[in-house]
Amino acid sequence: MNGVKELGYFGITASDLPAWEHFAVEVLGLARGEAADGALALRLDDRVHRMIVEPGASDDMQFIGYDCGSDATLEAIAGRLREAGHLIEACDETLARRRAVRRLHATRDPAGNRVELYVDLARADMPFESALVPSGFCTASGGAGHAFMPVPDRQPMIDFYTLIGFRMSDFIVEEVAPGMVVDAAFMHCNPRHHTVAFAQMPGAKAIHHFMIEVNERVDVGCAYDRVMKAGIPLEATLGMHPNDRMFSFYVTTPSGFAIEFGADGRLIEDDDAWEVTTHDRLSTWGHSRPAQVVEALSRGNSARP
Ligand code: FE
Repeated sequence: MNGVKELGYFGITASDLPAWEHFAVEVLGLARGEAADGALALRLDDRVHRMIVEPGASDDMQFIGYDCGSDATLEAIAGRLREAGHLIEACDETLARRRAVRRLHATRDPAGNRVELYVDLARADMPFESALVPSGFCTASGGAGHAFMPVPDRQPMIDFYTLIGFRMSDFIVEEVAPGMVVDAAFMHCNPRHHTVAFAQMPGAKAIHHFMIEVNERVDVGCAYDRVMKAGIPLEATLGMHPNDRMFSFYVTTPSGFAIEFGADGRLIEDDDAWEVTTHDRLSTWGHSRPAQVVEALSRGNSARP
């Protein structure tokens, strides 16, 4: 089936753009791109942008753009969406230019998230460089990263994303606190283990986290140190998930949702050989709440003579 090739860009609105710029560029190591109308464009690779931060009070996800790879695939996806009763709009040139794509359509998924379908995201004139992330960001076969979204009901999301070309990766169901069950579905559209995930869990925002990946673990560790040195709150310490085996930590962005910063995520290279399973925990190790670590470390200190 003709489907989307990768998650091309994340779009958010933020109430404090200078804070975002400092956080993304000086702490995480993304590169500044060129953006229009007071927005902040952030680069992860040779593309003009992979994250677009627009001024706005919502401090939440506004859109995600998916690369269709060709006009024919964009039209095939749009046709399937229309047939299934979804509204899909062909966006004008002004918006396409803002997104730096040649063609752009937009629709909404069943949770109400704006989904943009594009062809040809422009490459930047300048090569990508990040002194803070010498290994570079890992986008070559898996796109910009992944998005983990809290949703009221995951099945309509699975149906919608299947329609635009996603395949099931796996599920995780864990009771994280008495009576609070996280029930998450993970889907892929290229070798990256998952590009979208939907969790039936409480969430005040449309996005729980975006994941971005670097090519070497040392750059995860160095980013972790920079986050702590800058006094930016961690949402979860270093750890690893059982499904994508990403070595990662979670940091709270200036907008309140999280970014997962990781390396060495598992790939699904052969769909025919892949078996969809259900895991019973979100993390194999780590990903602790910082307060748990503080408590554990202070216990160690008080035991010392
Ligand atoms: Fe994640």
